[in-house]
Amino acid sequence: MMRAESLGMSGITTPALEARVTDGDGPPLSTRVMDAEGVVLVECTGRVTVFNSQAAAHFGIPVPLHIEHARLPGCEWVRDDGTPLPPGDSPLARALAGEPVDASPWHVLRPDGTRVVLRCNAVPVRGGDGQVAAALLRTHAVEAVPESLLDVSRLLAEAGALLGTSVAAEAQLEPLLKLLVPALGEGALLVLRTPGAVGDEVLRVAASLHADSGRHALLRDLLTRYPPDPSVPGGLPQVFTSGAVGRLPILSEEHVVAIARDAEHARLLREVGPHGCLSVPLGARGNVLGALMVLRSNVLRSFGAEEEHFLTELAHRTALYLENARLYREAREAVRQRDEFLGIASHELKTPLTPLSLKVQLLQKQVVVLAREGKDVPTDRVADALDVVQRQVRRLSGLVDNLLDVSRITAGRLRLELEEMDLASVAAEILYRFSAAAAQAGTELGLEAPVPVVGRWDRLRLEQVVTNLVSNALKYGAGHPVIVSVEAQGTLARLAVKDHGIGIAPDDLVRIFERFERAVSDRHYGGLGLGLYITRQIVEAFGGKVSAVSTPGEGATFLLELPRGDIPEEWLVAHAAPGPTQSE
Ligand code: ADP
Repeated sequence: MMRAESLGMSGITTPALEARVTDGDGPPLSTRVMDAEGVVLVECTGRVTVFNSQAAAHFGIPVPLHIEHARLPGCEWVRDDGTPLPPGDSPLARALAGEPVDASPWHVLRPDGTRVVLRCNAVPVRGGDGQVAAALLRTHAVEAVPESLLDVSRLLAEAGALLGTSVAAEAQLEPLLKLLVPALGEGALLVLRTPGAVGDEVLRVAASLHADSGRHALLRDLLTRYPPDPSVPGGLPQVFTSGAVGRLPILSEEHVVAIARDAEHARLLREVGPHGCLSVPLGARGNVLGALMVLRSNVLRSFGAEEEHFLTELAHRTALYLENARLYREAREAVRQRDEFLGIASHELKTPLTPLSLKVQLLQKQVVVLAREGKDVPTDRVADALDVVQRQVRRLSGLVDNLLDVSRITAGRLRLELEEMDLASVAAEILYRFSAAAAQAGTELGLEAPVPVVGRWDRLRLEQVVTNLVSNALKYGAGHPVIVSVEAQGTLARLAVKDHGIGIAPDDLVRIFERFERAVSDRHYGGLGLGLYITRQIVEAFGGKVSAVSTPGEGATFLLELPRGDIPEEWLVAHAAPGPTQSE
């Protein structure tokens, strides 16, 4: 039996209290806790003189001995929309300030994350001097927010059915979110990362849904106008970088102020309303493809372990599905590329065959006619024809060599035999080989290579690389000068091929180094789209890189950077032009 008077509160008038603070015998607490009255008596000093077991059950905390600023430890008084009440507005604080609070429903967020709605009645208790000495709070639980009843196996089965029906990956994502809304939360979104330049990735909202139609449109508007920014600290980037689950208990006003990019952003965030958020990574085969996020406008209901587990499993399945859809798309694209390539390759292989067989047939006829007439075949005519034959045979064998190289590269069988050589001499030799063809095309060839640039490379492969670049410069820049320059920069050798031809559009500059990629129409220029791919593969096998810069319509410059390899120190020093690597 607890009596207020026996708790050292002499002078405090608590007539109705004695009966109320009694914890009588009766049914177990759990079955009567919702009906019974909680009673709390707190002195102005913060000393808790009464805190019965119903109160402990209502607030979900053990009996405190002392509280600061009228705050019950771990509990938050919140408005019915979930936003926290200012500390001075809670019934206990108001009663301590001398203001009685009538029996209206109050929402309390308990330390375990559950919410309870309490009918509270709080009165100031005055001492003999008329001053407020304590506050008496009585609570009745009106309703406890039920735990969500997740039917995990049904939801996963439905998700499986959705994800299994189509390969049009993203079309299935919104229906997938319908499984989560409202079962898990009032809103859900699926964010995918689109790889950009390093550290410059873009996050894209692939699907979003809100149970409330007004908020659904608002959420769409918000996400379209202010897409998630991976550089803003908070739950989202953490999900992407660490692959860990992110939680945001509530998007409070402080959060809004912290993350809003401008006033309009803040307005939209506020209008969508306060939400708690659980975001889980879409992880597949070691990659984080994005995040699946559930928004809960009822922030008083925290996400439970079972819900987190379910969401993680669903995110994993979704990620695998997206990954498989990507692989399927890529496989289809590869088949399409292969078919297109076969078309181009047959055309390319046939092109030299036509003049070749015409020339041979013509020669054959002439030989037969001349032999019948008992005349000799004029040597200049034969030489002329053989010239054509040889050119076309060379072109054919070049095409076949390219095809063989690609299959060697694909099978990882590109072997290099390294030896010491001078890149400047290699460039001079290749330019010499092209001199006749260049003169015929009216192209002036120039070489700027003031000093030898020695390194260890595979001669044939290096020649092939330089040949590819020079032949492209002649092909796409016919009639305009082509300059090849060679220089050393410390441990690097550089070779640049500059032409003044058709140039390359910025979007194509990276693509053209891929297999079968071309940036010109095959009606105007023949080719298999393999030369630069092979060039890049060889250069990378040397440990170097190849790149291109261009102004469309004004020409292109292809730049090779090759490590000079393990060569004697004096070669590095004697013939190195001053450059950044050296001056360091
Ligand atoms: P191909 O010349 O057989 O098409 P490449 O792999 O050598 O194949 O080149 C790929 C594409 O790059 C070409 O189709 C062309 O669009 C572009 N390209 C290469 N070199 C140049 C250049 N010097 N000027 C303009 N475009 C070029």
